[in-house]
Amino acid sequence: MRLRFAPSPTGQIHVGNARTALFNWLMARGAGATFVLRIEDTDFARSTKEAEGSAIEDLRWLGLNWDEGADAGGAHGPYRQSERLHIYRAHAVELMSKGQAYHCFCSEEQLEMDRYQALRNMQPPKYVGRCRNIPREEVRRRVEGGEPATVRFRVPDGDREVGWEDLVRGRVAFTTDVIGDFVMLRSDGVPAYNFAVVIDDALMEISHVIRGEDHISNTPRQLLLYEAFGWKPPRFGHVSMVLGPDHAKLSKRHGATSVGEFRERGYLPEALANYLALIGWSPGEHQELLPLGELATRFRIEDVGKSAGVFDPEKLAWVNRHYLKIAAPERLVELALPFLRQQGWIGREGRDPKALDFLAKAVGTAAQSVDRLDQVPGRLHFLFDYSAEASLADPAIRAEATDARAVIAALAGELATAGPLTDKETFRALAGRVRERTGARGKGLFHPIRLALTGEPEGLELDIAVPLIEQGAAIHNAEVRAVFSAADRAAAFLLELEKPVANA
Ligand code: GLU
Repeated sequence: MRLRFAPSPTGQIHVGNARTALFNWLMARGAGATFVLRIEDTDFARSTKEAEGSAIEDLRWLGLNWDEGADAGGAHGPYRQSERLHIYRAHAVELMSKGQAYHCFCSEEQLEMDRYQALRNMQPPKYVGRCRNIPREEVRRRVEGGEPATVRFRVPDGDREVGWEDLVRGRVAFTTDVIGDFVMLRSDGVPAYNFAVVIDDALMEISHVIRGEDHISNTPRQLLLYEAFGWKPPRFGHVSMVLGPDHAKLSKRHGATSVGEFRERGYLPEALANYLALIGWSPGEHQELLPLGELATRFRIEDVGKSAGVFDPEKLAWVNRHYLKIAAPERLVELALPFLRQQGWIGREGRDPKALDFLAKAVGTAAQSVDRLDQVPGRLHFLFDYSAEASLADPAIRAEATDARAVIAALAGELATAGPLTDKETFRALAGRVRERTGARGKGLFHPIRLALTGEPEGLELDIAVPLIEQGAAIHNAEVRAVFSAADRAAAFLLELEKPVANA
């Protein structure tokens, strides 16, 4: 068995295409088959090297790999269509010599007129066949005279059915009378998609073609080409499109649509890949969260649903949360660094082990309660961007709230003499002493403490947040923005409270 994914490098990889790539990969890996990456870059105006590079990077990032391909080599290369033009030409010549293809001299304007006429007569817009039977001699003369010509496939005469057993959709069939003679080579010698794809799939010995259902209407044309060459066609499976939650094609207005955008927002690759596999397919009841290798052993293309897959951001968030929770803290730090850097909280240089250990704890803790890594900074403001002023408006500590003020005064007093609160126990012990001194308890005790030490009305458990603050405060280097200690925070907060103007 040999499978392939054949992206056109004209932009970022859309998650719908990534899912098609993934289904091919799952099928290949599950069967121990060969997986090929072919670059379909014959649309020279829109294809770019950057897009090819980013497609490869995105697929790798998702955890996919391939045995043969544009960047990997292999015995069936080249794997980039722009490097195979001579192969397409040779095959076009072969069909022409057998009378199954012919030169067409119709101009774009003429074809446009034909299409318009057909539309007016409520006919399917297919090629009218004007150049089908031009005598050989005349063709030679015109071609030699430099008249631009495309090469068209001669669809066999007579109406008959062209169909296939689709691996996803079951029997699909078209009749040849709706298929006009189609272009194989454009006048500049560049192949049209339907022609190139058949030559490539045949010569690359692809046995199973899994692709988007937007290609269904191309398949009968491709089957006719296989027939003309006397080649055995591959099995086809056309998977549904991925739609947005409103059942419209997933597009920009739904938010992120490309793999690159999901990566930038801090989704983990294993989460996105796992989630994409779940659109229209399920590895089994209550067993949705599985590594790719495991999914591959369970995957059967026949089990993929025919109906459109709906992209569910909530479910993706759920899958991502799962993988964030089980990810190694060191890895999360690596992935979260760009987001922390954007905030100016950490520098670029060096990797002090103490700083790294602190960041790992901070990011690891924050990652327990976010959907995506780009939300991590929001959870760490209390550490790096502490501000006493921000909390002064909190109703709990307005001038008349004497109890809360007493708590903060006692807190500052205790902290001034205590050592750093490096773990849960020392923090709890300190909170106990503040309670004894003030008589405050429960929310009356902890809310003012929270405001004073984190500058925020809610957030992480205090016995986790406070040791983190203290650990950060112990690091003095250029890599991490200075974190104020609990004692400094309480003192600063008290000072703010005592400013007469601020309390007015
Ligand atoms: N380059 C085509 C696309 O991206 C591939 C279609 C196919 O798999 O045959 O849609």
